[in-house]
Amino acid sequence: MASPLLVNVAELLRRAGSIREIDRQIESEFFKFDDSRIIVGSQVDVALTLEALTDGIVVHGKLGAQWSSECRRCLKALTGRAEVEVQELYQSVLSDPDAYPIAGEQLDLLEMARENVLLAVPLAPLCRVDCPGLCPQCGIDLQVEPCSCTRAERDDRWAALDSLRIDES
Ligand SMILES: [Zn+2]
Ligand SMILES: [Zn+2]
Repeated sequence: MASPLLVNVAELLRRAGSIREIDRQIESEFFKFDDSRIIVGSQVDVALTLEALTDGIVVHGKLGAQWSSECRRCLKALTGRAEVEVQELYQSVLSDPDAYPIAGEQLDLLEMARENVLLAVPLAPLCRVDCPGLCPQCGIDLQVEPCSCTRAERDDRWAALDSLRIDES
């Protein structure tokens, strides 16, 4: 499967300062994310500017992808959109340790986009910042209804923390 983000940069390599815009939607399958958080069949938005330097091509712009996951506390299904700003360097002769390679006159944005999208997708999202989660004892969703068993345990824990704070001051 050929990369849909292979860009011919012959023109750019000839003239420093020249610019090329890439604005595409790519099927997530092409990226081989191998990550359950990326929605199968979704599109990855790629809006990048390639700018020729004397010793490489700098790529900057935005990537966007749809993700699905679950709240780390209550396990409710969540979906969202990850957007990330990128700024990466491609070089024919690699002198920068973080640079991606230019092979001949071709530059492939796929691996760079893949890495950045995976970093942008949340690892352990919350349905809301103060999600109380599930009761560790009875398993009840505390967002739906409270239960007496957690209430007691929580109070103990906070009481222990509070006494620590008092000792410190
Ligand atoms: Zn939650
Ligand atoms: Zn409970």
